[in-house]
Amino acid sequence: MSVPKLIILDRDGVINQDSDEFVKNLQEFIPIPGSIKAIARLSQAGFFIAVATNQSGLARGLIQEEDLAEMHQYLLDQVSAAGGQIHLIAFCPHGPDSHCECRKPKPGLLKAIAEESRLPLAEAVVIGDSYRDLESAWAVGAKAVLVRSGKGERTLKGHPALLQTTPVYQDLAEFTANFLKEHEHG
Ligand SMILES: [Mg+2]
Ligand SMILES: [Zn+2]
Repeated sequence: MSVPKLIILDRDGVINQDSDEFVKNLQEFIPIPGSIKAIARLSQAGFFIAVATNQSGLARGLIQEEDLAEMHQYLLDQVSAAGGQIHLIAFCPHGPDSHCECRKPKPGLLKAIAEESRLPLAEAVVIGDSYRDLESAWAVGAKAVLVRSGKGERTLKGHPALLQTTPVYQDLAEFTANFLKEHEHG
């Protein structure tokens, strides 16, 4: 079995609290308890940490680019203050009708991350709370993991068979604890 080297996180619902009204600015960017520390631990363990996030609020005119940049700088700073590093944040700014190649469930963001990191997607773990996060992972042969935080419970209710096919964790902190235990000798 190949050892994972690349960890790709969805943002809203995995790292920070999701909102049906979009997470539009720094005031609305609220980390899920334990997520920042979890990211720091994963990066300290030697994994390349990337974020892949749909941000259609940009195309919808609900989110300003400066606010998105501010949120992402804050996220980078928080992880860095916790002793870790996010290596790359990739986002899709397009709306659902733009038919771009990067909006998940399409795997364009994952492919861009693979190119930048020079790490193969076959050795990547993708963690998300929405079904389309998992679909983007399956499309490129990466390992998909579902968390119950954010829209995760809703996703499970809509796709109950996931419990048989896909690892499911309470949140990023629980995934990380298990994952690092599994790989501490790898
Ligand atoms: Mg999400
Ligand atoms: Zn896009």
